[in-house]
Amino acid sequence: MCAKLEAFIQGRKDNTSTSTLRERIRFWRKEEKRAKKVKKLEEQNKKLERLLQRCCSPQISTMTLVQIPKGWQASIDKIQSLGRILYNALLKCWACNCGIRHEARFSLKSIDHSVVVAEVVEGNFDFLVRTGSSLGGTHHWHEGNILVRPKSSIPAQQQEALLKICEATQTIPGGMRLSLLIEDLQGTPKPWKLRPQPRRLKFTHAKPSVSLTELLKASMVEAAEFKKELALTVALSLLGLEEGTWLSHGWTKQNISFFHTADNKLDYGRPFFSTSFDHVPATLSEERCSGHRNPRILDLGILLLEIELGRPLESYRAEIERYSEDSNPYSDFGVADHVAERKLIGSSVDYREAVQACLRTPWVPGDQEVSLSDPRVRAGLYADVILKLKNEVEYMLRRTF
Ligand SMILES: [Zn+2]
Repeated sequence: MCAKLEAFIQGRKDNTSTSTLRERIRFWRKEEKRAKKVKKLEEQNKKLERLLQRCCSPQISTMTLVQIPKGWQASIDKIQSLGRILYNALLKCWACNCGIRHEARFSLKSIDHSVVVAEVVEGNFDFLVRTGSSLGGTHHWHEGNILVRPKSSIPAQQQEALLKICEATQTIPGGMRLSLLIEDLQGTPKPWKLRPQPRRLKFTHAKPSVSLTELLKASMVEAAEFKKELALTVALSLLGLEEGTWLSHGWTKQNISFFHTADNKLDYGRPFFSTSFDHVPATLSEERCSGHRNPRILDLGILLLEIELGRPLESYRAEIERYSEDSNPYSDFGVADHVAERKLIGSSVDYREAVQACLRTPWVPGDQEVSLSDPRVRAGLYADVILKLKNEVEYMLRRTF
């Protein structure tokens, strides 16, 4: 203790210690507070370390210097093509007369896993479909799995054609899930019913599902692990879903939801994407973009902002407009740009750059269209958004273990 005090006195004399004795005693007095502050200090040091690494190492943030995995672009085309086959097949067997809107929720984990694999042959999608219940007229979710193949591989006599999704769910025994196969027979998607399989998702539907909007409004998007993994999943899934079909209703917090596990806990690790096939998809109003060159990439940028900040974008609008000299209301793009500039100060450089890339879309010249089917845009999203979000997840895992 005496040696420590002497070192402290010397530190004050040399100006190497800026804290006072009173501050030091306060710091050591309560163990809980001390542990909290030390943890915070460690986090800040790590952030500083990463920042210094980036400043001292050659600039690698531009997409041209990032090696896109061989075959990856072709793989994305394949996933989107399988998704299109699935979408067109379900469009034909969705309508029915039971009076229930059969909303479908597809597991985003089924989609993002496909996007990271460079050699995709077939698609395998876990989903839930909202059906009627024989008990009391309430709704419930029925589990299913769909295998999508680009061409026929099983003799047709072993399978039964799927006519209506509603009827198919009514014949599935309890504890089992619907198992479907969709094949593309010379450009015509053909859906088949396979033998039912045991349920895998183990969700309870006693508690309603929760949308990402509801989680954000309730300030329930806080855990770093959840935030980083969800951000990466929504970025990967955007590339796996086609703009004109699956994404025609937007890529927003309202489309993303979570179910409860058997022990009534929300399953944060398995986000679902909500859609329906009972009507022709409408194109969204593009007013909200106001200047952005691709509404779905803007949606992704907004989602990344909302996930990181744990708040819906709308909650910033009044605050911004109150202090703005503009008499016109802000578009979503305007609000997002403002929030990205001012509210991500505590976030990592990688995360900030990923959001900025979505808002700026720097991958094609300013006078050209930005489309998710353009290989330059995909490569840019891979290099400037996905890799950076992957860094975030890897950094978080290293810190956890
Ligand atoms: Zn029905």
